Amino acid sequence: MCGIFGIFNHKYASNMVYLGLHALQHRGQESSGIAATNGDGIVYHRAMGLVSDIYTGDIIKRLNGISAIGHVRYSTAGTTSLSNAQPIVVESSYGSLAIAHNGNLINASILRHKLEARGSIFQSTVDSEVVIHLMATSRKKSTVERLIEALKKVNGSYSLLILTDSELIAARDPYGIRPLVLGRIKDSYVLSSESCAFDLIGAQYEREINPGEILLIRNGSLESFYPFGKVKPRNCVFEYIYFARPDSIVFGRSVYIVRKALGIELARETHVDADMVIPIPDSGIGAAIGYAHEVNLPFELGLIRNHYVGRTFIEPEERIRHFGVKLKLNPVSQAVKGKRIIVIDDSIVRATTGRKVIKMLRECGAKEIHFRVSSPPVTHPCFYGIDTPTRKELIASSHDLKEIRKYMGTDTLEYLSVDGMRRALMKTGDSEEYTFCDACFTGKYPIRFPCQMTLEEVESMAGRKKNTVEKRVYLSRIR
Ligand code: AMP
Repeated sequence: MCGIFGIFNHKYASNMVYLGLHALQHRGQESSGIAATNGDGIVYHRAMGLVSDIYTGDIIKRLNGISAIGHVRYSTAGTTSLSNAQPIVVESSYGSLAIAHNGNLINASILRHKLEARGSIFQSTVDSEVVIHLMATSRKKSTVERLIEALKKVNGSYSLLILTDSELIAARDPYGIRPLVLGRIKDSYVLSSESCAFDLIGAQYEREINPGEILLIRNGSLESFYPFGKVKPRNCVFEYIYFARPDSIVFGRSVYIVRKALGIELARETHVDADMVIPIPDSGIGAAIGYAHEVNLPFELGLIRNHYVGRTFIEPEERIRHFGVKLKLNPVSQAVKGKRIIVIDDSIVRATTGRKVIKMLRECGAKEIHFRVSSPPVTHPCFYGIDTPTRKELIASSHDLKEIRKYMGTDTLEYLSVDGMRRALMKTGDSEEYTFCDACFTGKYPIRFPCQMTLEEVESMAGRKKNTVEKRVYLSRIR
């Protein structure tokens, strides 16, 4: 859960990145950083907190440069600390280099272990730093070749930006799990996790960086490399369901249109008679609009969100999380009193939000509450960069619909089916093929062995298995 933004060849590069990071703030609120270059070394600033709190006019002035990259972070790998903020900047025998990463490298701990055994000294505990060390140990001549060599060794999800004195490089993993888009503003190229950042700075959306593409921007020209074997893309479906901003285009579709389509399918599959449809704001709004349209019911704001509080889920401490739902959402009693309500949320993870919301709506006198979820039950954790708790904590991994309904205290509870979700995605795109990772709902992980294991653990596990395909795949992955 991170956002990345970069610009090549712009008089106010750091200013532009600063704006871009504002637009991507929803992708991470823990820390942020900007690195810039004028062609003679890299200057950078990183700090904990929100973009609006971190940067001042003086800091941006100091980050003087014609190209820059930036990052907003919420940790899914590595601990919460300033040393783990990105971009990571290093001085190597090849020159200065900054890297910003969105995703999760699932074999990072194994690679790190090997690199440390050979003398590498790591500055942070983030998985992304492995790429830098792999590049540093490469004998290839150019940055892009060193990057390709490094990326051939990593597994997992990555959308990456790399800045050197004279180049900006973008890379996306072969499955294209996390988004990354290319835009243009006059003679400058821009790269962003999501297109909403382009709108803010007046950049034109050009295209996605393709899965498995390494794009080199240098001297104002673009050059693409496709060094990996082609695999079927596996774009993260949760970007549409929850994570990305609805005004963005990711994976070639409007997030808003997909959310509406999910709501339409949900209505078709699960509708009950009621007086109104209300969303849990903000991420439930798109689906609730689709649902209400489909069944011709009024769409009402029965809950108001306080926008000055971060996403509740972001607080890892359980006590804070419980308190946080109340802090964030408040019912409009005049709208819900005596009414039969369909409440729409985009997902249920631990069911904390839904449970609290239902209690609040009941206290306001709602007559019936029908909870509808515009995604299937989240039964499996994500290993590719979305922050989901362990399997044990995912309520749907160990409880059936009846038990979850009871826990939440709703009159009825229904989820969108996996088929319904897939239908919504197929209807909103032009590909004949379903190209999404939906492992959080199905347990079918596109990249095998999605575990953060130490080398010892992997080797002992591989050793225990006789000469099976699993063992061979496993060994090929750790080598
Ligand atoms: P929970 O309260 O644990 O069931 O979480 C579900 C709520 O959190 C929903 O309202 C979602 O909008 C939101 N949500 C879902 N996934 C995530 C995530 N990975 N990070 C933060 N919030 C999330």
